[in-house]
Amino acid sequence: ADHTLSYPSRPQDMDWAALFPSFFPPDAAPGTAPARVEFVDVGCGYGGLLVALAERFPQTLAVGLELRGKVAAFTRARIRALRAARPGAYGNVACVRANAMKHLPHFFRRAQLSKLFLLFPDPHFKRTKHKWRIVSPAMLAEYGYVLRPGGLVYTVTDVPELHQWMLRHFGEHPLFEALPPAQLAAEPLLPLLPSVTEEGQRARRAGRAPNSAVFRRRPDPPAA
Ligand code: SAM
Repeated sequence: ADHTLSYPSRPQDMDWAALFPSFFPPDAAPGTAPARVEFVDVGCGYGGLLVALAERFPQTLAVGLELRGKVAAFTRARIRALRAARPGAYGNVACVRANAMKHLPHFFRRAQLSKLFLLFPDPHFKRTKHKWRIVSPAMLAEYGYVLRPGGLVYTVTDVPELHQWMLRHFGEHPLFEALPPAQLAAEPLLPLLPSVTEEGQRARRAGRAPNSAVFRRRPDPPAA
């Protein structure tokens, strides 16, 4: 349950150096800006996306948030093993056990992130469970807070109804817009996302078609 989760009271209290030691050298020149997480995988599961991001964006810190303790422990062990097998690689990805629906602003500052990934989120089919969906007006306000203007949210699901739900909520939210078709076509990560995670591979084996979408954080409205 949630009371066993630990989370920082403020982003600056988080021990990021413990998660990404190779990006926090003890001999860093004084005044050097500390490295900051830029990519977040919400509900990262067994970490397939993190591994792919480590290979494609080795200089960008990416963290996966995973609610289930055993799954988060598995993913942490997976990353530890990869780091040990290839010293110098995979130092930019980490997994944290966290409830992304409750604690996002505890981990990340306003406008800190450039990419958020919501891959195969739990569908919570029943109407009474819709409040647990990780796409909702309240959650979009939080995603909008932690993303910088121009930052992107990637969604993939094999549940058509959930895809429509996400399109509707992002479409209706003032802080987000769908990525224009030309940019969508040129988006290099998009083709990778449906099959890079464990859930994506499962959907593929079962013959369930994935639906993807990308939304962009709009610029902040001018101050009144
Ligand atoms: N993204 C992974 C993939 O594509 O393989 C996992 C998909 S799985 C269907 C959804 C994951 O989200 C589960 O591992 C679940 O524990 C996690 N999850 C659900 N609610 C969450 C929350 N509030 N915060 C963090 N993780 C959550």
